[in-house]
Amino acid sequence: MKDSNCIFCKIADGEIPSATLYEDEEFRVILDLNPATKGHCLILPKEHYANLFEIPEEVLGRAALVAKKIGTKLVNGLHASGLNVLQNNGVCAGQTVFHFHIHLIPRYEGDKMSVGWKPGTLTDEDRKEILEIFS
Ligand code: AMP
Ligand code: ZN
Repeated sequence: MKDSNCIFCKIADGEIPSATLYEDEEFRVILDLNPATKGHCLILPKEHYANLFEIPEEVLGRAALVAKKIGTKLVNGLHASGLNVLQNNGVCAGQTVFHFHIHLIPRYEGDKMSVGWKPGTLTDEDRKEILEIFS
């Protein structure tokens, strides 16, 4: 399924041109237009899934393999020191384009990129509530 209002559907399909690093039947990997660091790219499935909750497990599995393959090539080719693999779901989590995508962000010593949070404290109440969901 494609969504005719979705920019990433159009990019993934090739209807809108993009700087493509990799393409197969199921995915296109493009350079992000507003990169966090040099080499920041996005893995786009060609089918439209809004987020992690909608993407089928087998497609997600293959996307992870693309992340490993392209992430490795990027890091080696750009002589980066590390890689963040990020994926946002929902406005409050920072998602701005509602077509599932995985960010690959090469990291360099001293770069200005930050993926930070203030460490909290795991309360007894939260631990109990969360463990109960999985029991
Ligand atoms: P997210 O905030 O996780 O939804 O990420 C959306 C990403 O898409 C951002 O990093 C944007 O810079 C990037 N982006 C938005 N529009 C385009 C576009 N037309 N081509 C390439 N990257 C884009
Ligand atoms: Zn889409």
